[in-house]
Amino acid sequence: MAFLELLFPPDDPITKILLRIAQIAERNNVDAYLVGGAIRDRILGHETKDIDVTVVGSGIEFAKAIAHSFRLKKVLEYPRFGTAMVPYHDIIIEVATARSEQYENNSRKPKVAEGNLHEDLSRRDFTINALAMSLNKESLYELSDYFQGLHDLDAGIIRTPLDPVTTFSEDPLRMLRAIRFSTQLGFKIEDETFRAISKVKDRMVIISQERITEELTKILKVPRKPSQAFLLMKKCGLLEIILPEIANLDGVDQKNGYHHKDVFNHSLQVLDNIAEKTDKFELRFTALIHDIAKPQTKRYVEGKGWTFYGHEELGARMVKPLCRRLKLSNKIMEYAEKMTRLHLRPIAIAEEGVTDSAVRRLCVDAGEHIEDLITLCRADITSKNPRKVAEYTANFDRVVDKIAEVEEKDRLRAFQSPLHGDEIMKICNLSPGPAVGYVKRAIEEAILSGEIPNTYEAAKMYLESHKKRLLSEI
Ligand code: ATP
Ligand code: MG
Repeated sequence: MAFLELLFPPDDPITKILLRIAQIAERNNVDAYLVGGAIRDRILGHETKDIDVTVVGSGIEFAKAIAHSFRLKKVLEYPRFGTAMVPYHDIIIEVATARSEQYENNSRKPKVAEGNLHEDLSRRDFTINALAMSLNKESLYELSDYFQGLHDLDAGIIRTPLDPVTTFSEDPLRMLRAIRFSTQLGFKIEDETFRAISKVKDRMVIISQERITEELTKILKVPRKPSQAFLLMKKCGLLEIILPEIANLDGVDQKNGYHHKDVFNHSLQVLDNIAEKTDKFELRFTALIHDIAKPQTKRYVEGKGWTFYGHEELGARMVKPLCRRLKLSNKIMEYAEKMTRLHLRPIAIAEEGVTDSAVRRLCVDAGEHIEDLITLCRADITSKNPRKVAEYTANFDRVVDKIAEVEEKDRLRAFQSPLHGDEIMKICNLSPGPAVGYVKRAIEEAILSGEIPNTYEAAKMYLESHKKRLLSEI
């Protein structure tokens, strides 16, 4: 039994789809192969999300045959690339025509020609993504591994199938993909491959911002330690090209209570801390950029050390152009701007004494993002001194308690009897005056103490049965 057969057991939902695709391939007399991430992820024991299929012949025709057999109406065709996508429940089946490509200089638009499986795999980005599993009857589950992908998967190595300089020059986005896979899988980028990135990095400018941002987003969403990617980008020089604001933080030292390390390493630590708590993209992104104005605001103050007065305000103002350039949505931009502007406020509140009005003002300014803001503040504690960490954590705990307390008070203040004054007057036969207020407060008290539920009916019944007593008390 081929070892892949063990990884794709017959009752597995992905296997079921693959076996159906194999039948369709046989019926249509085409060679089909499973390629790319699905094989890599199965071997690594990760969940398989998408199915990438390569056929020797027309990928688009084959995608239509799949859709027909699965009774699906939707096929997204990309004739220029010879590919098509078939969404099937929450799985996307992507079908490509096996191809050989030639790139022209200064362009990432390949001239596509039909090719065989070997040619197709050789133009893929990394050896670990250049494995193919046969979906053909006579060789079902058989693995094609022309570039030692299995070895590299086992050894944890990212390497290009062909010459890395050529591979990266042809499609420079592959450099970012190398860094993303390395971070996501905990793999090492092989030395020659990494040197090639340093050499070819300037070609990144031919890649559209949309593709770069898509890859950056995937990097920021890596489950654990996304910082690794930024360290690699810094090391090979890509960071200066795609995120100079972050590259500029390198070497800006800071030493005061909450922080240590230079601003670059501090920001990466905050990012990793946040990644432990949430996979929310905008919060992770804000963690990365919240200190971008520190280089510009850095001043040395005798007796205090390095200070960064106003970096939260200047930083907030830098967020808009940065997000525009990255083509992020307005929603993310506004979120990151607000969070950057407010990121010191909880610290100030904790230090200056937690008054109701300061807390209330912060809640109003942060609005629905107050919890995220506190999460950011907690992640912002990167001190290595356990005593300080405990102290700052306790400070934020007090702020959180105070927020809950103030919210509760405000909720009670905003609370109103479900029975309005005119009805109280009618039921009790009163004319306008302080007695109406007295009765109303009595109803509110009965609700707040839990004696009756907060409904119109209950309040009315309560009043009818207690009105005699209440009126006698006035
Ligand atoms: P994931 O979906 O987790 O990002 P994946 O390997 O499935 O990983 P996709 O972007 O879905 O990545 O691409 C599918 C396959 O197509 C890859 O495994 C790789 O073989 C090939 N591929 C994708 N992008 C490129 C590229 N820019 N250059 C060369 N090959 C690529
Ligand atoms: Mg994929």
